[in-house]
Amino acid sequence: MREPRFDVLFEPVQLGPVTARNRFFQVPHCNGMGHRDPTAHAWMRGVKAEGGWAVVCTEEVEIHPSSDVGGFVEGRLWDDADVPAHERLVEKVHEHGALAGIELVHSGMSSANLYGRMTPLGPSQLPVFGYEPVHARRMRAADVADLRRRHRQAVARSLRAGYDLVYVYAAHGLTTIQHFLSPRTNDRADEYGGTLANRARLLREILEDTLDEAGGRAAVACRLVVDELLGDSGIGRAETEELLGLVGELPDVWDLMVGYWEDDSVTSRFGEEGWTEQHLRGLKRLTSKPVVGVGRFTSPDTMARLVRDGVLDLIGAARPSIADPFLPRKIEEGRFDEIRECIGCNVCVTGDWTAVPIRCTQNPSMGEEWRRGWHPERIRAKESGARVLVVGGGPAGLEAAQMLGKRGYEVVLAEAARELGGRVLREARLPGLAAWIRVVDYRKGQLARLPNVEVALESEVTADEILAYGFEHAAVATGARWRADGVGRRSTSPLPLDGVEVLTPDDLTAGGRPAADARVVLYDDDHDYTGGVLADLLAGERFAVTLVTPAPRVSEWTTNTMEQQRIQRRLLERGVDVIVAHELLGASGSARIACTYTGREREIPCEALVLATARLPQDGLAEEVERRAGEWEDAGLQSVRAIGDAWSPGTIAAAVWDGRRYAEELDAPSPGDRVPFRREVVELA
Ligand code: ADP
Ligand code: SF4
Repeated sequence: MREPRFDVLFEPVQLGPVTARNRFFQVPHCNGMGHRDPTAHAWMRGVKAEGGWAVVCTEEVEIHPSSDVGGFVEGRLWDDADVPAHERLVEKVHEHGALAGIELVHSGMSSANLYGRMTPLGPSQLPVFGYEPVHARRMRAADVADLRRRHRQAVARSLRAGYDLVYVYAAHGLTTIQHFLSPRTNDRADEYGGTLANRARLLREILEDTLDEAGGRAAVACRLVVDELLGDSGIGRAETEELLGLVGELPDVWDLMVGYWEDDSVTSRFGEEGWTEQHLRGLKRLTSKPVVGVGRFTSPDTMARLVRDGVLDLIGAARPSIADPFLPRKIEEGRFDEIRECIGCNVCVTGDWTAVPIRCTQNPSMGEEWRRGWHPERIRAKESGARVLVVGGGPAGLEAAQMLGKRGYEVVLAEAARELGGRVLREARLPGLAAWIRVVDYRKGQLARLPNVEVALESEVTADEILAYGFEHAAVATGARWRADGVGRRSTSPLPLDGVEVLTPDDLTAGGRPAADARVVLYDDDHDYTGGVLADLLAGERFAVTLVTPAPRVSEWTTNTMEQQRIQRRLLERGVDVIVAHELLGASGSARIACTYTGREREIPCEALVLATARLPQDGLAEEVERRAGEWEDAGLQSVRAIGDAWSPGTIAAAVWDGRRYAEELDAPSPGDRVPFRREVVELA
């Protein structure tokens, strides 16, 4: 039952001509499926609508090839050929009573137009953002007229597809309208440059065009950056207040955000839930129109307070809706302990940066709704009376056990340690990663409700036991261990290491530390977060740390979680000595490193060496049971399989996903050589 203090979250909100059934608003977010996987995308949005969101939006949708975000897979509405894909999405969202919104985008100088090779356009003559050797051409009057006309055409097509809400997008640094608004990118001397009123002219014109074209048949939303966080060189609070004085009454709903995308979607390591509140507070009183805003909100109390305090009218969410598409329904039904809270890791964002379907650490069904038929809340019932032993209670084992339990199997989850959680339990103690424990907490909560799942702690399982206990199936989720020999991407054979203390990330997360006063070299040939966060940990404990990596930057892969800048800044501020583009050759009393370009060698002081290089799966248990296949029949055993990191080391998200896959595939026919998921093949022209 709903708690009265949350009633406020379930009040309807009028958005111009349409009504949101409650205050939960899934703001536009990328998903790596877009125009390439339209049905998969439609189903994913449909599940959000089913989960109770009042408004469910697309990601940014290109209105015309004069602005394509080639290299990324976003939405497209270039011409009528793109309309049917959007109709399908709208249909899935409407099926569950939500409003469907579309975020139209003209990317201007933030995109190099790599797909269609048309010249990017911008307010000023400047190179495009990033490092592509491409310039944006300063827009002439005719270009502005083209843009306005094409935006109008896209609005008309959006309405034809059935959308209830259409965005005018001036945020994240990603759109031509914002490039005109911002003094950083607009050096024009005509009526579109100079004063704020002039820089806002394009925004005003496109808002008016959109309202006119929508003609009261759909709401018009405006996503606006309220502070570019660039000090005097960008849009700041004072200009935003002035801007709302100019155009505050035009759209039917304001979607306000802060900074660039990496600020808006800051990870929990670098930003708290609701960090945006300080920037959003006080803006609502400058407009009579409803305001939506985000802040990785997962706490219903925070949401209700923001509405009551007059900060927001609608609770915006991208990541919380990805981690738990059923967040609104769970709050409405008082099922708070069933909420899969977003951990703020940005694994979801990596799908977009690598142009593959979205994935989520907390919600393994994300992106798999249509492709594999997975649902965040449901799974098909068991198909046999088999009993399953899951060995290891890390993310893979926890997910497998809870989903098998939901299918109705009798399950025993055996964990060697005193507590569940595996690597997550250890990693959540590292600086900034406390929210990651939610991966364990959610699953522990689910297991506690399943009488058919027994959890046995301090129970280290052996192969003899697997063969003696009489389970039909065994899943071995025993994880992986970091290597201590230097093997990784750069060196595929062990390094000569002596005369220094060698530690692995496992040693550090288990509480081990270098000798006091040791000069520490941390060699990162893993390139995800581990090396950087351990350097942060040790520097915070006053060790003298030198981070050496063959990559050109610290924690190179975290460009995909949009954390790389912040990680490197943090380490530099903490006094970590950073040596990039160098590989470790060996150690004997000091560390010998070489430049990855010239091969030039040098020695650096080192009493303790921390190696974040590669991991080895701990799959020995599964292998031994497989080897003893002759004993299976007597034992009643039908299958054994390593899952998660024990199968092949990867991200926590990958381990959770593999646990889900194991639970989905138990008692299902093997796909053999068939493609094991659905895909959409384009129709030949
Ligand atoms: P994953 O990421 O694949 O879930 P983790 O390393 O996080 O893997 O978790 C593996 C878990 O398995 C750890 O909690 C560890 O204590 C447990 N474990 C390892 N070997 C055994 C065993 N033989 N019996 C029971 N638990 C085990
Ligand atoms: Fe949240 Fe991480 Fe899932 Fe993204 S991947 S929604 S940040 S839990």
